[in-house]
Amino acid sequence: MIDRYIVAECPRCGAFLVADSRYKSKTCPKCNARIPANELKVIRTAKDSREARMIVSEAKARRGGLDQR
Ligand SMILES: [Zn+2]
Repeated sequence: MIDRYIVAECPRCGAFLVADSRYKSKTCPKCNARIPANELKVIRTAKDSREARMIVSEAKARRGGLDQR
């Protein structure tokens, strides 16, 4: 079974984003690019939005500041 949420990296700007796996594309909140789901660099999947947000913050922490605003 496929998880509902996808934690992925934007192929254009490298920002982390959470996509809903029911949709075929996702607009990056950072660079506003519309990214087809099959071009997202998937990091992890999550079953709910809380888990997805946790994965994003862990991924940001691992990256160590490159992605902070
Ligand atoms: Zn982007």
